[in-house]
Amino acid sequence: MKKSVAIIGAGLSGITVASKIRDKFEVQVFEKSRGVSGRMSTRKDPPFVFDHGAQFFKIKSKCFKYFLSELFTKKIIQPWEFKLAYYEKYSLKKIKVIKNSDEFYVGVPNMDEIVKYISKDCNVILNTKIERIIKEKNKWYLYDRNRKSFGEYDWVILTLPAKQSLELLDKKISFYPLIEKIEMMGCFSLMVGMNEAIHLDFDAALIEHNDVAWLALNDSKPCRIKKNCLLINSSYDYAAKKIDSPKETVLKHLLNQANTLINFKLSNLNMTKIHQWRYVEAKKSPTENYFIDRTKNIAVCGDWFVNSRVEGAFLSANELSKDMMN
Ligand SMILES: Cc1cc2nc3c(=O)[nH]c(=O)nc-3n(C[C@H](O)[C@H](O)[C@H](O)COP(=O)(O)OP(=O)(O)OC[C@H]3O[C@@H](n4cnc5c(N)ncnc54)[C@H](O)[C@@H]3O)c2cc1C
Repeated sequence: MKKSVAIIGAGLSGITVASKIRDKFEVQVFEKSRGVSGRMSTRKDPPFVFDHGAQFFKIKSKCFKYFLSELFTKKIIQPWEFKLAYYEKYSLKKIKVIKNSDEFYVGVPNMDEIVKYISKDCNVILNTKIERIIKEKNKWYLYDRNRKSFGEYDWVILTLPAKQSLELLDKKISFYPLIEKIEMMGCFSLMVGMNEAIHLDFDAALIEHNDVAWLALNDSKPCRIKKNCLLINSSYDYAAKKIDSPKETVLKHLLNQANTLINFKLSNLNMTKIHQWRYVEAKKSPTENYFIDRTKNIAVCGDWFVNSRVEGAFLSANELSKDMMN
């Protein structure tokens, strides 16, 4: 009989592990949100659509390219050809044309399509936040906040940002102190839907030394419906300072900063929404690619083990999957 594995989290790392070990194990994935994708999600607020997590991704390793080959064939992944501006504070320094050959990849029609596609046969239970995991005798038991039980498993794999993993782990787990050391930086994403298109000399901008660190016209990505969607990300420093501030204050400030940078008409806005990402990037990654406790049958993987990027999520999950398969 196959051993059973509960995977917590249906971002790219959770779904990668599920898809790679499901031939050998009975796999069940739990996801707290109403859809898969995690930090590669897309926010739909009709008629506006925003990739409000990962903006694009790079592929440096052969194994990641190979893993995604079917999605390339089906054109679910395409290169983003765009003009990228570089700002220092408020001054525009240069505009670079990013060509297909520069390989800035995005999901099509939206970023969330990638994990959605890979997760098709991965046995995912949505809208289920696991709040407790308990080991009794040789089995793991999972519970939500109402103490509803979600079955017994031989193994548990956590694929969450470091701090969220700690919330579930017992201090006696061998790698607990190693995760405790990981600090993660967050940011705010401001989504702006406009009544009319704005015309800029570029499609996205990287901004140094400003409370706004990135902005992008979502519609400039391939196969998007043209709907005048502007995505604005704050800097990590600004997010750390304003973590407990009212959302409305943050929204207004980022909107004003962006307006100073690119001068759009504030009166022409149809919708504005702010999302707070508490865990975007680890200040320092561990030296390992994943943690595993073979006496307790529990493991942890995720982007923060490698480089806090999309490819890092895959690489960490891929390494753990190889270990599990052996
Ligand atoms: C604003 C932003 C911009 C970014 N830009 C880029 C970029 O341009 N390029 C790039 O390469 N990377 C970028 N990244 C990073 C990239 O998105 C991540 O590296 C990658 O998506 C991480 O995948 P993951 O599976 O490791 O984690 P996640 O995607 O965070 O997956 C974890 C999942 O676990 C779920 N979960 C959490 N707790 C529980 C629980 N208790 N029970 C059940 N489910 C739970 C979460 O809902 C989530 O779906 C960005 C990230 C953010 C936030």
